[in-house]
Parts: sequence; C-alpha cells; structure tokens
Amino acid sequence: MKQKKYYLSEDQIPKQWYNIVADMPNKPLPPLDPNTKKPIGPEALAPLFPMAVILQEVSQERYIDIPEEVLEKYKIYRPSPLIRATELEKALDTPARIYYKYEGVSPSGSHKTNTALAQAYYNAKEGVKKITTETGAGQWGSALAYACSQFGLECEVYMVKVSFEQKPYRKIVMNTFGANVISSPSNKTESGRHVLAKNPNSTGSLGIAISEAVEMAAKDEHTKYSLGSVLNHVLLHQTIIGEEAIKQFEMAEDYPDIIIAPLGGGSNFAGLAFPFLRSKLKGEKDIRAIAVESSSCPKLTRGTFMYDFGDTEGYTPLLPMYTLGHDFEPAPIHAGGLRYHGASVLCSQLLKDGLIEASALHQIECFEAGKLFAKTEAIIPAPESNHAIAQVIREAKICKERGEAKTILFNLSGHGFLDMSAYGDYNAGKLTDYELPQSKIDESVLKAEALQP
Ligand SMILES: *Cc1c(COP(=O)(O)O)cnc(C)c1O
Repeated sequence: MKQKKYYLSEDQIPKQWYNIVADMPNKPLPPLDPNTKKPIGPEALAPLFPMAVILQEVSQERYIDIPEEVLEKYKIYRPSPLIRATELEKALDTPARIYYKYEGVSPSGSHKTNTALAQAYYNAKEGVKKITTETGAGQWGSALAYACSQFGLECEVYMVKVSFEQKPYRKIVMNTFGANVISSPSNKTESGRHVLAKNPNSTGSLGIAISEAVEMAAKDEHTKYSLGSVLNHVLLHQTIIGEEAIKQFEMAEDYPDIIIAPLGGGSNFAGLAFPFLRSKLKGEKDIRAIAVESSSCPKLTRGTFMYDFGDTEGYTPLLPMYTLGHDFEPAPIHAGGLRYHGASVLCSQLLKDGLIEASALHQIECFEAGKLFAKTEAIIPAPESNHAIAQVIREAKICKERGEAKTILFNLSGHGFLDMSAYGDYNAGKLTDYELPQSKIDESVLKAEALQP
C-alpha cells in the first residue's frame, strides 16, 4: 500500500490557472443585456468589477498567469494535501480507491479563499477602496474578509438572514478579519426594502443578498463588488485545486476515474474537475465528473437551461444556465452554500453537452455520510462537502457490487467546525428531507421564461 498523504512543496505550486473555455467544443453563449437582449460588452461590467477580472471573465486563453503577489498569499495555506481515504475505504469494504483534496486548510476553512485572494489583489491594484459582497452560509464572506485584510481593503458583507441567525460564529469570523456584516434582506438597500415589503419574514437567499451588494457597489465609484462563485473568473481561480491534484496523482502513480464535488454555483467543482477534464476534452482520458447538488435546490437535475438573472432583483446580465428561476427561494437546509438558484455558465454548458454529470441528494443521507467520514477520516466536513461524500459512498458501493477497483477523487471543499448546530440537529434526529413540489419549480421557471431573447 502506498502512502496516505500527498504533499507538494511550496515551489511546486502551479503558476497558472486553467481556462476550460479554450478547450470546450461548444463555447458558452454570451451574457445578454436584459433590456436589449443583445450580448453585453466588457464595459457593461466595469462599474462592478476591476478590469483585470473582467478580461478574465471573457478570456479565451487556455492558461492565465497567477500574479506573484497572489502566489505568495496562496503559500500561506497551499498547496493543500491530497489524502487517500484508507479508513473510509475499510469501513465501506470497497475495492475503490478513494482520495480527497482537502480545502479546509485555508484561513476561512473552505476553497473560497482561492478566488477571494485573487479578486482582492486585482481590486487593490486598480485603486478600489471597498468591496461589497453577499454570503450564504458565511464561508464566502469569511474568505473575502480575510482576503481584503491582506490587501488593505474595506469589506461589507450581506449575509443571508437564515445563516446570520443560525451561524453567529461565521459573523464573528468576518468581524475578526475586519469586515462589516449585515443581515439580508436589509433596510439599507432598495432591493432589500422591496423584498421585505412583499414578505417581512423572508429568510433571505443568496440571490437577494447579491442584489443588495451589487446595488451598493453600483452606487459608489470607489466600491466594487465581488462574487464567490458562478462567474467564469471565479471558476478560473479555483483551478489551482485541480492543477495541484494532477501533480499529486503523479506522486501517487494513480489517476481518477470518477471526480466528485458539491455544487452550489459551481466553483469548487470546476476548480477540481476542469484541469482533469482537459484530458477528456482532448480525447486522452475517459473520466466521469459528477456535480452534486442539494435536492432542495436542484437546478442541474430539475432546472431548465435558459437565460436568467444571476440575482433575485434582476441587476445582473442574463446568463445562459441551468436555473430554477431567479426568484426561487429554496427551503432553509443546512448546506447554505448550495442554496443558489442557478449553476455557472461553464458547468451548465458542459452538462448540456453531456461532458459532466449531475446528482441531487437529500440532506439526511449527506449528514449520515459526513458522520461516517468524521469517524473514519478524522475531519468533520462542511455540510456542503457532505453531498460529495454521500455520492462517493454511492459510487464506492457500486464498485463493491461489481468488484471494480475504480479510483474516486472528491473535493472536501471545507471543514464543518462552524456548522455544529447542523450536526447537533442531525445527531438529535431533528433533520428532515424536504420534498420539493414540481409546482414550486414551474412557478419560478415560468417567470424566467419571459426573459428569453
Ligand atoms: C460555497 C461552498 C460550496 C459550494 O459553492 P461552489 O461555488 O459550488 O463551490 C461547497 N462547499 C463549501 C465548503 C462551500 O463553502
């Protein structure tokens, strides 16, 4: 048996991000102006994002250099380990070889720091003073708060109300890194007031929080906005994960047959899977990449591929993606990071073209998987990551039934140390699986259908 952990040294850290657009057989459709229904140019994004980020958003270049300043910050916690889950394999009595890339080693406890640092760097370089953003479960807000502190920027975070109340410790993490945190929907913005007028008890959603953060950035020239998932440049920055993993698999003298990651907007899935998919797109390797979403927010498995807004109020351009409709409000499940109505344009196009797969899982199965993982591998995973683990266990059981020794790689996108109330509910038998009625999806999808060009 080979070693269990694969560490790269600091100087083996990959120096470029990988842009999958260069290799996609069908390029993603362009984002559209919601009024004219014509493709938007990069200048339309200029009020919200720094130019370097906008250029990455539309880039067709296969590789983009990681700035030296960002690499230096990456080295605080990267390269992250690749670990063979030998104890989990034993517990499952499976012939499958299971590996995970552990992103919980980052300062905020999840993969999100990988793009937060890059975005904060480009903003600071272009003279921006303050960044606004939204956060669901709090991981993105924590990551950006930390990144802003590294590059001397102010940070204002609109936090989805259900998480603001369920996860007070995330707020304290953000405050400790120096950020200002506001419960969303709030009375500070027009979009927040609009939602509260319709439903004063709204528990919020990522879409609503995005609207609030975008509105504040659009109003002030020294303030820009930053998104923690969904957009092409965010997925690009996350490819550091997969690029490292490729080198680590060389050390392990192995190669994944199946790659699995949880999907909220698509960034950690893309980050791990895209560098491996490069070989599949070139016809060199045949791998399966499976994005795992929550059954409460099943855009990939039950949504529609069409143009829709990225936020609830309609401030963003129209994006071509699998969506449940921009004003779909998911049930308040514990995996807050998976409560987003759409999937990134790149993941959506790849799914449409049959190059990746999707699976939707209920939360009780996921927590069961997370608990087994904690007991065997000694890390308590984030509730989002539990979705990947549950899918891994399904695949490992299939391997056992068929006697196939497949290699499975998954992204342990974060640790769950700040999700103890979720584990508490699970341990107390208080979690329920929510059956999402088709009528609820149809209702919000119908509204988005009216937006098609
Ligand atoms: C945010 C988050 C996710 C889901 O977001 P993606 O953009 O799809 O990666 C998954 N796991 C953790 C730990 C997260 O914080």
